[in-house]
Amino acid sequence: MNCSYCTSSNAIKKGKRNNKQRFYCKECNKSFQLNYSYQAYKVETNNFIRSLLKESCGVRSIGRILSISTKTVLSRMLNISKQIRVPYFNTFGCKFEVDELFIKIANGKSQNWLTYAIEQQTKQVIGFIIGSRNTETLKQVIDKVLLLKPKRIYTDKLNIYLSIIPKEIHKRFQYCTNRIERMNLNLRTHIKRLSRKTICYSKKLEYLEAHLKVYFWG
Ligand SMILES: [Zn+2]
Repeated sequence: MNCSYCTSSNAIKKGKRNNKQRFYCKECNKSFQLNYSYQAYKVETNNFIRSLLKESCGVRSIGRILSISTKTVLSRMLNISKQIRVPYFNTFGCKFEVDELFIKIANGKSQNWLTYAIEQQTKQVIGFIIGSRNTETLKQVIDKVLLLKPKRIYTDKLNIYLSIIPKEIHKRFQYCTNRIERMNLNLRTHIKRLSRKTICYSKKLEYLEAHLKVYFWG
């Protein structure tokens, strides 16, 4: 018998549950069944959820495709995002772009913006934060970038940046944020809850953050 997790052939029969044969793998010490009545227990479910979240599928469409409930998709998404480790960016003297993106959250009283920073060459996301466009929020992203001793930081013409980025490395001319503006379009296309002019939006901030984490680093 081959293990569903590690594909080793060291899995043996071990007991039954609800009249279904269960197997136990001696290599990775995990138990599994070949057929599940509840679809979400399948080994590959989390991987499907992870890739569908990046392919412009909403949580309800993922639920319909995998025949599992919306709530399961959401809770699995939270679990997946908790396991993600933010990759450590450790190159000094790079050039970064910072931009904000308007985001709709249901019943949100304040206006929400996604502020994030990317490295220009690799387009790796250094950090992101969701909140209103004020000094406090933007500073959290900028501080992360400043730790990397950047050569330049390119932003749009928002005045808040003037007070939190040292003048000698700050640039804000037209077209200097082209790469991150293009990435904004990617986000709007690849993440269903960020699409404009649709009925899709986030109801809770924590799910939005989890989804973005899966998209950026998952
Ligand atoms: Zn195994």
